[in-house]
Amino acid sequence: MAEKIPFVTTEKLGEIAKIYPTPFHIYDEKGIRETARLVNKAFAWNKGYKEYFAVKATPNPFLLKILSEEGCGTDCSSYTELLMAAAVGITGSNIMFSSNVTPAEDFQLAKKLNAVINLDDITHIDFLERVAGIPDIISCRYNPGGHFAIANNIMDNPGDAKYGMTREQLTEAYRILKKKDVKHFGMHAFLASNTVTNAYYPELARILFRIAVELKEETGVELEFINLSGGVGVAYRPEQEDNDILVIGDGVRKAFEEVLIPAGMGNVKIFAEMGRYMLASHGALVARAIHEKHIYKDYIGLDACAANLMRPAIYRAYHHITVMGKENAPCDHKYDVTGGLCENNDKFAVDRMLPKIDIGDLLYIHDAGAHGFAMGYNYNGKLRSAEILLKEDGTTQLIRRAETPADYFATFDFTDFFK
Ligand SMILES: *Cc1c(COP(=O)(O)O)cnc(C)c1O
Repeated sequence: MAEKIPFVTTEKLGEIAKIYPTPFHIYDEKGIRETARLVNKAFAWNKGYKEYFAVKATPNPFLLKILSEEGCGTDCSSYTELLMAAAVGITGSNIMFSSNVTPAEDFQLAKKLNAVINLDDITHIDFLERVAGIPDIISCRYNPGGHFAIANNIMDNPGDAKYGMTREQLTEAYRILKKKDVKHFGMHAFLASNTVTNAYYPELARILFRIAVELKEETGVELEFINLSGGVGVAYRPEQEDNDILVIGDGVRKAFEEVLIPAGMGNVKIFAEMGRYMLASHGALVARAIHEKHIYKDYIGLDACAANLMRPAIYRAYHHITVMGKENAPCDHKYDVTGGLCENNDKFAVDRMLPKIDIGDLLYIHDAGAHGFAMGYNYNGKLRSAEILLKEDGTTQLIRRAETPADYFATFDFTDFFK
């Protein structure tokens, strides 16, 4: 069971909401640092292990800085994500550039920053050479096709995914890159998203380790790192069992000892690009109940909407909700908890049993720390919220201000309409 307890008390959140108007995203520095340390501990058996935090999950320079203080690099996939990493002093081998459908400017900036470039496709070798030149160190992304299953449970469908190279292309790519004098090689794969099983990384690792051994025989290329990418999930539902990163790290170690060590490849470094696992549970969306409505169902309307947290709308994802101050009240009311978009999928919860909610109540929407704010958008002219950091000493810091109408109209700054 994953206990769903807010990382901030009702009293404290009430004080914070007096300073920063709702809605806002709030992040827990203490929890972020603890998770980063636990991840590094789980893989401490591997010399050279590194977590490259997936910037797309929570693109905020203050948070990237905290993670970099804990020894993490960044995984970037676009020009602006590269700029954000560079802005907090993360460059060179501390950036993994795992992009796809990559524009020339993006490769050029990645090369300029000396980021490690992870090629999504075999045709990107020529493209990269033409637009930026081939670097000394390069990684290739693998897609095994078909279904990816663990113990007969289908986890995901790589055969339908646009990412990576086929097994044959992978061999060919390393042959070509070797001829082009690349000195250092890595491999990457991302086969399943939001996995809530300790078996995903070990299973993926075993597949990639075996291929690494084959590639050495086929091409003479000795991989220096294997990047397990993201996909380690969190228990969004209280009845789910959370992943145990120490068990996961140990599972990868076993595969490493069984496959790579006997092949004389015990120096391979393990990399990861986790986003969700690092931050999801250390961030929440805080909103206030501003309306209630009773028609064919009972609705609670919040001052936040899907523009602040899109996952329920697009994936029908479950996010646990705590009504602050009513943690011990009976959940004897069935509500749809909604935002104000003119879209009927703008519901944070459907038919959810909750305590009786009154106008003005603060609602804490759990596990919004990754792929939360980041997926925000401006539909219906809704503005993105502020992001607040709850620091280790209990004080708060504004780490992104809320958007204003002026931000929304900023792209009309060449006209007089909004002057
Ligand atoms: C999205 C993404 C990640 C992070 O995924 P999580 O599910 O947040 O861990 C890592 N690497 C790549 C290439 C991605 O696209």
